[in-house]
Amino acid sequence: MELYKQQQLKLYNSLSNKKEDFKPLIEGFIGMYVCGPTVYSNVHLGNVRTFMSFDLIYRYFKHLGYKVRYVRNITDVGHLENDADTGEDRIAKKARLEQIEPMEVVQRYTVDFHNVLNKFNFLPPSIEPTATGHIIEQIEIIKVIIDKGLAYEVNGSVYFDVLKYNEKEHYGILSRRNIEDSIHNTRELDGQSEKKNPQDFALWKKAQPEHIMRWLSPWSDGFPGWHLECTAMSTKYLGKQFDIHGGGMDLKFPHHECEIAQANASNQQMPVNYWMHTNMLTLNGQKMAKSTGNYILPNDFFTGDSKHLSKVYVPPVVRFFMLQANYRSILDFSDDALLASEKGYYRLMNAVNLLDNLTASKSSTFDVKTWKQNCYDAMNDDFNSPVLIAQLFEGVKFINSVRDGNESLTQEDLSAFKTTINTFVFDVLGLEDATVDDSSDKLSGIVEMLIEMRNEARANKDWTLSDKIRDKLLERGIQLKDGKDGTTFSVN
Ligand code: AMP
Ligand code: ZN
Repeated sequence: MELYKQQQLKLYNSLSNKKEDFKPLIEGFIGMYVCGPTVYSNVHLGNVRTFMSFDLIYRYFKHLGYKVRYVRNITDVGHLENDADTGEDRIAKKARLEQIEPMEVVQRYTVDFHNVLNKFNFLPPSIEPTATGHIIEQIEIIKVIIDKGLAYEVNGSVYFDVLKYNEKEHYGILSRRNIEDSIHNTRELDGQSEKKNPQDFALWKKAQPEHIMRWLSPWSDGFPGWHLECTAMSTKYLGKQFDIHGGGMDLKFPHHECEIAQANASNQQMPVNYWMHTNMLTLNGQKMAKSTGNYILPNDFFTGDSKHLSKVYVPPVVRFFMLQANYRSILDFSDDALLASEKGYYRLMNAVNLLDNLTASKSSTFDVKTWKQNCYDAMNDDFNSPVLIAQLFEGVKFINSVRDGNESLTQEDLSAFKTTINTFVFDVLGLEDATVDDSSDKLSGIVEMLIEMRNEARANKDWTLSDKIRDKLLERGIQLKDGKDGTTFSVN
């Protein structure tokens, strides 16, 4: 029987502001859409935190046996500087400043994004579509919304008519705003604006002559509004209604609110059953953000080259640090906190490695079954990774006691214990074991190979070659020792 039938998962739905029993639209299948990065600069650790939370969620769903289609887009057009409908496109601006093509900007930072996520051992999504690859789909949605009377064209741009939509639907359903407050609190539009009301948002913008990213449409040579791409791509790959939509909390309004309005206007149904929002990573108590300069880049950890860091850290330690906080809590970054996580991480890894050397006894002094269910209960409670980690440390304490001879496990319990800890540490939390030095394994392999080649040379009485291999290795600090059981080596 699939695990998901045995484990009842609850998740916090931002739409209802409640933890709800999770029930996918189709049993055994999950459609999940997560807003991806705007690829105009290197991702900072805050962005990584949000994507890591969804990596954890994706991993747990897969572990439970669900077939998940996980769509995470790349925003490569339409995200303007100030998140509203004014200012320059972020990618076009970078291209102008660096005097390169916008698609060069997109390529450079998409590659960086993937490299960073690989370092942190992320699973790739099932589909990673781009906004520029879905212009036709976006235009089609605009046509439908205009036909429904919920969008209007002015001078080649098209705007969503929020007040009209709100006559029958609730614009603000996700962010718990109501339009009357918003009307009350918003300044009147100046004579410059094309919008009927300040709440309206752009579905299509006419490109100014200097604007380089532009496509042909029925309304003008222009580009889509930022919110539209996610509606187009989520509908295309997951359907008019799907299970989960995620992103950082800062995307709830206006981005996700606008997505709901667009999808509901064109498809006459609410698009998403469960909205999930991750909380922010802060630095010095302030949100980590590129725009304010208050950020730390993933690469800084691997070089240690940052005023915020006292030393170099390996990627799984940084991953462990972030997963020690619940995805819905604010996490403040500090070097001290990271140092503490590093200690915890190595304690966990050492215990995992110790498991292979434990010997089984006739009886067990630990209730493995209950402990295992406690681990599941933590994750079933809205993916509570810090509680899961606390449970894993209960396991660590126990392993260390078995090593010291104070506790014991039967062979059957030992196997169950190993499987559980490996599942949660490696498959669900996605941690990698940094205590295993991969490069020294590779070095040994190469030296063994050279020893074999030397043996062959000696068998052929090719003393020049055999001496050369020995001497060249010695020059590089590797000493061969010939003994009666063959040749061994030491690294000096
Ligand atoms: P962006 O490229 O700006 O669209 O951001 C990509 C993702 O990172 C979005 O889901 C944001 O909500 C998220 N994000 C941005 N800043 C932070 C932060 N300081 N902490 C956590 N997530 C963040
Ligand atoms: Zn989005």
